[in-house]
Amino acid sequence: MTSPNTIVAIDGPAGAGKSTVAKALAVALELEYLDTGAMYRAVTLAAMESGLALDGADIVGLAESCDLSVENGRTMLGGRDVSSEIRGVAVTAAVSTVAANSGVREVMRRRQRAWGDSRGGGVIEGRDIGTVVFPDALLKIYLTASARVRAERRVAEVGGDVDEMERAISERDHKDSTRADSPLSTSTDSVVVDTSGRTIDDVVRQIKNIVDSRRSSVRK
Ligand code: C5P
Repeated sequence: MTSPNTIVAIDGPAGAGKSTVAKALAVALELEYLDTGAMYRAVTLAAMESGLALDGADIVGLAESCDLSVENGRTMLGGRDVSSEIRGVAVTAAVSTVAANSGVREVMRRRQRAWGDSRGGGVIEGRDIGTVVFPDALLKIYLTASARVRAERRVAEVGGDVDEMERAISERDHKDSTRADSPLSTSTDSVVVDTSGRTIDDVVRQIKNIVDSRRSSVRK
């Protein structure tokens, strides 16, 4: 079993900059990076393609049996690269419903812990990584930004209307924060980092400094 002290957990709402920050941080720390949102998105795509009810129990079996891997920024499902497809409007609108299923979450948690254990840690982003999946992580970051800023960033990336994007983001945040099983929330030992009006480099530098100081105090 890997020491949980090598895990850096990055949680937060949609569009806070988690993926960009987590990827750059992983490079800076020479650790691997896992996007757990991509896992929930891939299971959602698999359910939609199989015609399963998104809020049904059958999805748990699918989550268990599907051939899913998230490596080097690519999400593979049954040998197929679904990295772009899982970012589409249909999966994005459906994923929070699938992610509210406790059985699915249990399977995903198991896969995520196995990923971290087999690699000796990593930078892992999601919604419940510091609170539930790796409660003993070396560092837990809660990355956030105002809903407006998050909507503006998403529109700059994928186009669309900022008001509509803000509504869609807020709806997904609400579902993710109010579900019964491992809702999105800060924990008493997480460091809240607001990325509004800040550059990626600045945020990554701040988090890397905290990791470095925790690593050196663990060694002492
Ligand atoms: O991070 P991303 O926006 O791609 O995540 C997609 C969805 O997956 C979230 O809105 C949430 O419903 C779910 N998710 C989750 N727990 C995680 C990661 C993602 O419930 N650890």
